[in-house]
Amino acid sequence: MLVNSGFIDMPAIEEYLAAGRTASPRRVAELIEKARLARGLEPAEVACLLWIDDPELEDRLFAAAREVKERIYGKRMVLFAPLYISNHCVNDCAYCGYRRTNHDLPRRRLTPAEIAEEVVALEAMGHKRLALETGEDPAHCPLDYVLEAIAVIYSTWHDRGNIRRVNANLPAMSVDEYRRLKAAGIGTYVLFQETYHLPTYRRLHRGPKADYLWHLGAMDRAMEAGIDDVGIGALFGLYDHRFEVMGLILHALHLEQKFGVGPHTISVPRLRPATGVRPAEFAYPVSDRDFKRLVAILRLAVPYTGIILSTRERPELRDELFALGVSQLSAGSCTGVGGYARGEHAATQFEVEDHRSPDEIIRSLAVSGYIPSYCTACYRQGRTGDRFMQLAKTGEIGNVCQPNAILTFKEYLLDYASPATREAGERAIAAHLEEVSSPAVREETVRRLKRIEAGERDLYF
Ligand code: SF4
Ligand code: SF4
Repeated sequence: MLVNSGFIDMPAIEEYLAAGRTASPRRVAELIEKARLARGLEPAEVACLLWIDDPELEDRLFAAAREVKERIYGKRMVLFAPLYISNHCVNDCAYCGYRRTNHDLPRRRLTPAEIAEEVVALEAMGHKRLALETGEDPAHCPLDYVLEAIAVIYSTWHDRGNIRRVNANLPAMSVDEYRRLKAAGIGTYVLFQETYHLPTYRRLHRGPKADYLWHLGAMDRAMEAGIDDVGIGALFGLYDHRFEVMGLILHALHLEQKFGVGPHTISVPRLRPATGVRPAEFAYPVSDRDFKRLVAILRLAVPYTGIILSTRERPELRDELFALGVSQLSAGSCTGVGGYARGEHAATQFEVEDHRSPDEIIRSLAVSGYIPSYCTACYRQGRTGDRFMQLAKTGEIGNVCQPNAILTFKEYLLDYASPATREAGERAIAAHLEEVSSPAVREETVRRLKRIEAGERDLYF
């Protein structure tokens, strides 16, 4: 049967994977060496790495991923929190607690006043970046409502804190709708394909989202509408993880070829239990080992694309994944509507594994040698799309990321941290200042740290 899966050429993916499976250990070792140059990999090369099973080659793969991660992202880890404002949904995605046939889930959407309450609760935790999330329901959650929510978020301040970047994890829309979303001042537009495998996609979806090509074309329409930064993702566990990695790579390549810039981020959620949903019912569970390998392979395949991890993962595994390639993570997340201000945790989209508060997560990051970052500078400086990618690919971006991480972390320590976190954080700042390579930028960072201590906020490069 002929199937149209658009630019996701499924027979080609199968061929890449079949050829990759027969790659010799020597060929795989050569590819790992090539990947260490941080210039990315072709789809056929990625397919070879996806079959690594030999422990020695796996060690080399992990070492290369750590090296590339460290070289491009240093020890910075960008933090954000999801904000769910409506769980109404007309779709029936088999893996999601918000699906329309889940009659046990109380449905609600937040009023503007309730959204402001949620934002205050998030700001009180120190957050500066949100990922706005809704189900798909044009009647109960129309675009006008979403645009109003974004305006409420940007205008809600708590003490010295405000949300400086709202990323939008919203259903697929038309070009005109994306234009309105862009005009509202969103940061990255994020939408997961869930699975790139068309037959699986069709089997698991009912409702408007069941249209694979409409869903797949969302990023094209968003970019046509002028949204420079888009984030793609796959929900690992729905279909063979090797196929999904190839789907992500082909999606990234398509955007790069068509628009001259690939995705800003790739998200790697793994299937989690939700009300009435058990991962064991899905035939493709991804082991921790496979998950680590796929994060490392993505890091090497698209070195300049951020990799986002959610609270779905256990803290110990998260720490390993940071080293292998993850550059952004959600902290202190609640996946229910109204979860932050009122603690309404029962009606969640999926269960989370990491229940630590942002303060605890931040302290553990600082103690492990990372510098937590609340930086939102690029978007506000107009460093988006190809402008961002050019800076990223020349490595220049690191000269602003590092001081910006230090400045935003300092704000966090002064305004939100517990005494133990402040102590660990100040030690981390002193160590990371040494790593700012330009003496002039380092001196300016020190001056700005003093200005922050004196009460100024939101200083960035
Ligand atoms: Fe609705 Fe999204 Fe859940 Fe599907 S994944 S049921 S579209 S909220
Ligand atoms: Fe991200 Fe830009 Fe800030 Fe670096 S400077 S952390 S790329 S927003």
